[in-house]
Amino acid sequence: MKISHNFDSGSIAVIDSNDINNIQLELTTDNNDNTMQWFHFRCHTNAGLSHTIRIVNAGESSFSRAWGNYQAMASYDKVNWFRVPTQFINSQLVINYTPTRDEISYAYFTPYDYERQRSFIKQAQQHEQCQHTVLAKTVDNNAIDLLTIGEPDKNKKSIWIIARQHPGETMAQWFTEGLVNHLLSQDICLQKLLAKSVFYIVPNMNPDGSIKGNHRTNSHGLNLNRQWKNPSKTLCPEVYYVQEKMADTGVDLLLDIHGDEEIPYNFIMPAKGSCTNSTQANQFKSNFMTATKEFQVEVDYDNFHKKQDRCCGTSCGGKQSMASQYVANNFGCLALVLEMPFIDHNSQPNNITGWSATRSMNLGAEILKPIYKFL
Ligand code: ZN
Repeated sequence: MKISHNFDSGSIAVIDSNDINNIQLELTTDNNDNTMQWFHFRCHTNAGLSHTIRIVNAGESSFSRAWGNYQAMASYDKVNWFRVPTQFINSQLVINYTPTRDEISYAYFTPYDYERQRSFIKQAQQHEQCQHTVLAKTVDNNAIDLLTIGEPDKNKKSIWIIARQHPGETMAQWFTEGLVNHLLSQDICLQKLLAKSVFYIVPNMNPDGSIKGNHRTNSHGLNLNRQWKNPSKTLCPEVYYVQEKMADTGVDLLLDIHGDEEIPYNFIMPAKGSCTNSTQANQFKSNFMTATKEFQVEVDYDNFHKKQDRCCGTSCGGKQSMASQYVANNFGCLALVLEMPFIDHNSQPNNITGWSATRSMNLGAEILKPIYKFL
């Protein structure tokens, strides 16, 4: 069977694809780092013919505990993605499936490619309240896009939303698209929000890593969410130029959007220190829970299990270099990390879709309610 992966966010290594009942593949590392988790590839086969794919090194991946209850995503048209039966056996991720078309794509989560980012930006900026700026170009010459929604005014609050510092966490960009679309389509809601605030939205902090099919890092192998203390203009323009813009606008609320490989819940981690257990943080979470059943406050990093090095892990030595910590310290404001699952939101499970791009977009729309109450 022919397998292709040389496209936007493609990532896999083919070991042996001769026997359709035992296709052996391997996860590959980020281009300049040893993180290994994201996969995305296309199989060229025959409709009605079953195949068995083994990702033989899944047990050695960066988040190997992620595979237990995980079901891979598949698509025939790169638009509609669905879950397929997947097992984690003997440290291998095994997908056994009979496609109904000659071509089928598999991915860790619904991909969000650069072409979609360009058309999303083009559409959003047609709204009179929405302005597009390219903050900088990356090492690979991709745009770090910023959408400014509302008229800047010193009496208004600056709401910053950044997504996909970790490129494999594509749900973060789906979330942002849902948020922006909802904001721009709801006139009353928009006017109420924009009377008091301006939104600064970076839908994809890490376009290079996204296109390369990296899971955690940019072209230079840097984890962007460990670069906020002293970002290099050349190695990490993504963070450098966003910080520069934040210094211009000020920040009154930061939402840093991520995905978690293992925890099957949506949850929020406030920046450590001033934000931890602050009334503002608890109020925000409580208001978010009132807005949607797709959010909960029982499970988060502090009680799921101890982690060594996560987006907002309690035991992470690099806390000071994370976006939320940087913003909380420098602007003295509420800074929150939102984590969405790769698996499902177990307070409201869906056995067919698991967590999905659509649910991420809807969650993006719902977060406008706690933001409004925050104002
Ligand atoms: Zn992350």
